[in-house]
Amino acid sequence: MIRIYDTKMHKKVDFEPVEHGKVKMYVCGPTVYNYIHIGNARTFISFDMIRRYLEWRGFDVVFVQNVTDVDDKIIAKANEEGRSAADVAEEYTKAFIDDMHAVNVKDPTVRPKATQEIDTMIALVQKLVDGGHAYATEDGDVYFSVRSFPGYGSLSGRNVDEMEAGHRDLRTEGIEDRKNAPLDFALWKAAKPGEPAWESPWGQGRPGWHIECSCMSKKYLGLPFDIHGGGADLVFPHHENERAQSEAADGVTFANHWMHGGMLQINGEKMSKSLNNFFLLRDILETVDPNVLRFLMLQTHYRSPLDFSDERVNEAGVALERIKNALKTLDWALENANGETDAIDAEAAAALVRELRLNFITAMDDDFNSSKALGDVFDFVGSANALVAGKTLSAADADAVRPIRDAIVELMGVFGVDLSAQPETAAYPVEVLAIAAEIAGFTGDDTAAAIDALLEARASARAEKNWAVADAVRDQLGSLGITIKDTPQGAQVEYAG
Ligand SMILES: [Zn+2]
Repeated sequence: MIRIYDTKMHKKVDFEPVEHGKVKMYVCGPTVYNYIHIGNARTFISFDMIRRYLEWRGFDVVFVQNVTDVDDKIIAKANEEGRSAADVAEEYTKAFIDDMHAVNVKDPTVRPKATQEIDTMIALVQKLVDGGHAYATEDGDVYFSVRSFPGYGSLSGRNVDEMEAGHRDLRTEGIEDRKNAPLDFALWKAAKPGEPAWESPWGQGRPGWHIECSCMSKKYLGLPFDIHGGGADLVFPHHENERAQSEAADGVTFANHWMHGGMLQINGEKMSKSLNNFFLLRDILETVDPNVLRFLMLQTHYRSPLDFSDERVNEAGVALERIKNALKTLDWALENANGETDAIDAEAAAALVRELRLNFITAMDDDFNSSKALGDVFDFVGSANALVAGKTLSAADADAVRPIRDAIVELMGVFGVDLSAQPETAAYPVEVLAIAAEIAGFTGDDTAAAIDALLEARASARAEKNWAVADAVRDQLGSLGITIKDTPQGAQVEYAG
């Protein structure tokens, strides 16, 4: 039985999906006015891990994630840069998808955009107005009446009276005048001149932020759905408001379970632009291997605060290298399995794999404890190493060892750490040796190492703006059919052979 920590229940509960064998998940997506930062990336990687595990456990997972492509921040950016809000949104939607692919986050089953669901949102707002849960102002705004929904505050554990007391200051200053009560929030906003706007029963306007998630989750998953996820910073007000709108409108439970990921800190401090420790995911990926980043993040339980630092990047890199090296050792032993006699206890090997799978499932079923599960894989790798070290395998040994190798690749794959495609020694033409000798002072006969030396020489040349050398590397490799591609993970070569 999978148990998950439910924010609303404040405890771990048994997970029973609405529909047998199926999991319907909704995770709030980005507001596309900038590149995502490393804290956003953590949330998306955590829920990707949760999804992958549920799929690995045999569930058919339907995963919906919205894109907020109309919003104050997008409009502000568009005005600043003298272009349309749609143009800004399109650029950063594409960048978001690229960033997700770069860290091996799977595409959602459905990725609805707010601007494509306006009619559904207007219908839901109208339903709330008709049901007495929302009201329109003279200016053409529509607000949700928080007092009309008795359960308001129960997701985030807040009390409406106490919250209202805290808001009185704003009211006396006249900022919140248009609303009947201070906590009421916008479902629909009247358009200001020059803003993107749609025709509605309340005049030209655009949707508030919260309403889109209520609409899209219901439209693509149905109510109730199984898991609603997001970063802990979304519990209030965003998720509280989503839930109030949906349950007030439809009179049924919105999401059966609420899951929230912990925040990310940099060197023990809250990430913020003012502290100058604000990192975009794509900047981090200039120097950090995506597999190492995922490994680092999943070493911490998804609900715990995660401290990001150079030291932790290095530690994660070393740990992942150890797993990769163990795989290489196993692969070498399997490729050279020409022993006459058996050197390994096949039963012990099988027991090792059984134990790993059991430990892995026990850890992950317990609220997706990837930290513990990674530790189990790590211990297993040590035992596997000890099992084959210094031995020449027979054909029967190879049959016993292959499941060990496959288990490592399979279980790391559940974390989205892809070890299946270990680069094979590329058969580059021998001419690269002479080019590397001339340009990079390379000596040796390993063509892959020669390519690495050339890429390094090119990187230093580019840093020094020595374009002659940088171009020579590109052109001379090009003449052999080897092309250089600059990627977020650094320069890589492509060679069809
Ligand atoms: Zn949302």
